[in-house]
Amino acid sequence: MKKDKILVIGACGQIGTELTAALGLQYGIENVIAADIQTHPAGVKNYICLDALDHQQIERVVRECDVTQIYLLAAMLSANGEKDINAAWRLNVQSLMSVLQIARDQKLDKVFWPSSIAVFGPGSAKYNCRQHARSEPITVYGISKKAGEHFCNYYFENFGVDVRSLRFPGLISYTAPPGGGATDYAVDIYHQALEKEQYTGFLEDDCCLPMMYMPDAIRATLELMNAPKEKIAIRTSYNIAGMSFAPCDIAAAIRKHIPSFKMSTVPDFRQAIAQSWPASIDDQQAHNDWGWKPAFDLRRMTEDMLMNLSRQKGVEFEMAANIEPVIDFYPHEH
Ligand code: NAD
Repeated sequence: MKKDKILVIGACGQIGTELTAALGLQYGIENVIAADIQTHPAGVKNYICLDALDHQQIERVVRECDVTQIYLLAAMLSANGEKDINAAWRLNVQSLMSVLQIARDQKLDKVFWPSSIAVFGPGSAKYNCRQHARSEPITVYGISKKAGEHFCNYYFENFGVDVRSLRFPGLISYTAPPGGGATDYAVDIYHQALEKEQYTGFLEDDCCLPMMYMPDAIRATLELMNAPKEKIAIRTSYNIAGMSFAPCDIAAAIRKHIPSFKMSTVPDFRQAIAQSWPASIDDQQAHNDWGWKPAFDLRRMTEDMLMNLSRQKGVEFEMAANIEPVIDFYPHEH
């Protein structure tokens, strides 16, 4: 049997940093190639500098290194995408087209490519937005993700490429910084709370969005990719949910530990993007097909973020004991 050899493109980003490490644990570090357009970051093993838009270079790496799976993470995110719509479309769609073609021609075992809740738009259901809900995105990012989802399905249906995908909500983590999306505030707020005990956000206080803590996102990716092929009924992209909250909710969760924390808001262009997305996601199909269940809610994530970031920053921080569980205002059925 061919040995698994994994290529992660976009390995230095918010997801890539943690996913590459997790794949290293599963397959052995020597079998995971981290690739990104950035120059070699210190301490990253098995690294190559690669442009996701260079079809021939990807093909050469796949052939020379006997790659069996590609995880394509290089993309321009929602807020940055609105600043350069041509570059966003080119990177987000052309890189995927290359990877799908190479997967077909080189007979790769599997491909992972993340989509986003940005495929939904103002016409989609606001609460518990379903797998097959109407999706009319209004950002170039959402449009590129929607096109990408259909290309994934096309390559599966017509060429048998085993490509799998998740519609990630906004992701929160304490390792690599977020890459320019409309949900980035939910990372920055923890940094500012520890450093300055105050934060000025760019979304309205009550702008509720679907979010997920990075350990859940990494586990979802591995569970999807390890699931038997016949369990994968959705070949566009799966809805997955973690939690849903608004800036006022996360501020309240932080205040349980840092009572003096203050938040103010100066909404900018990202408010309109965020407002076009659902507030909560129905992920029943992912639950039924391959057993998806999130582990982190807002309270647990807040404790973990504050503990880890305070250690990283060398900031003194004492976690409040016996705090009441945060009420989940937007429950998901499981
Ligand atoms: P990120 O911006 O943090 O990382 C992207 C990485 O791709 C960066 O390291 C960047 O250097 C690299 N890159 C950019 N252009 C490249 C190129 N031409 N060739 C090679 N590498 C290139 O993004 P992320 O948050 O890690 O997101 C990864 C994927 O997950 C994207 O497809 C994104 O749309 C999707 N996603 C992310 C979130 C989130 O909240 N982070 C939510 C939904 C979906």
